[in-house]
Amino acid sequence: MDTLVQAHEAAIRFGFFLGIFAVMAVWEVLAPRRVLTVSKTVRWLNNLGLVVLNTVLLRLLFPAAAVGMAAFASEQGWGLLNHFLVPFWIAVPAAVIAMDFVIWLQHVMVHAVPALWRLHRVHHADLDYDLTTGARFHPIEIILSMLIKIATVMVLGPPVMAVILFEVILNGMAMFNHGNVRLPSGLDRALRWLVVTPDMHRVHHSVEDDEANSNFGFNLSWWDRLFGTYRDQPRSGHKDMIIGIHKYREPREVSWLPGLLALPFRGRITGYAINRRNWSGDKAPDE
Ligand SMILES: [Zn+2]
Repeated sequence: MDTLVQAHEAAIRFGFFLGIFAVMAVWEVLAPRRVLTVSKTVRWLNNLGLVVLNTVLLRLLFPAAAVGMAAFASEQGWGLLNHFLVPFWIAVPAAVIAMDFVIWLQHVMVHAVPALWRLHRVHHADLDYDLTTGARFHPIEIILSMLIKIATVMVLGPPVMAVILFEVILNGMAMFNHGNVRLPSGLDRALRWLVVTPDMHRVHHSVEDDEANSNFGFNLSWWDRLFGTYRDQPRSGHKDMIIGIHKYREPREVSWLPGLLALPFRGRITGYAINRRNWSGDKAPDE
């Protein structure tokens, strides 16, 4: 079973990507949450251009990806779940939840560490928020994520199936919770006890510092609630909140592919959230 799934890993993931993309794209047209500020053609052309570039790069650098590492680890008996011979039906959910926690931690880290924030701000500099924002990451951040994922799989030893399931869920949820879509508020509240909803994650894309440094989760909403980074709604409301980063609003820099690739290397090294020093009485730099 695992070998069969592994052999068709790329096709399975691409199939789910296309299906969920189509559903979200139609939903965004039928029930949009906000009016876009940049033309959809420009955004999709460039955001999806970056996705194609990243996909090719990943396949060239890591042809077997995290799934290959899971297969190798199980042959060698590496990782906690292999070492303790945890039954498949416990190992799959345990691995998916553990990998979600690691990705949450990674997300907090890329906000906290200045050099990593430079990479991650390519994702945040998007002036609008729609399903293509969810896949827009700098290639260096994508490579780093893959290395972290491979290391996690080595330590954890999850079944191959769990890794594929996690990749499909993460990819699908990223498109869902970055969706420019409306959900009935009761449904949003109910879903939030388990998973991250579009309204919950949109808060994280606010230009306001305190809002951007909250709601780091991609799949389960538990981590933010548990570790004190949960924020219910944006102060200005979902329609009026400003999306993006204060200092980076020039479309050439934040909407077009060459600008996106160059963005981590722009600007002075100052004003990161982690080195705010308000106790001296200085006003915090505006970023
Ligand atoms: Zn972020």
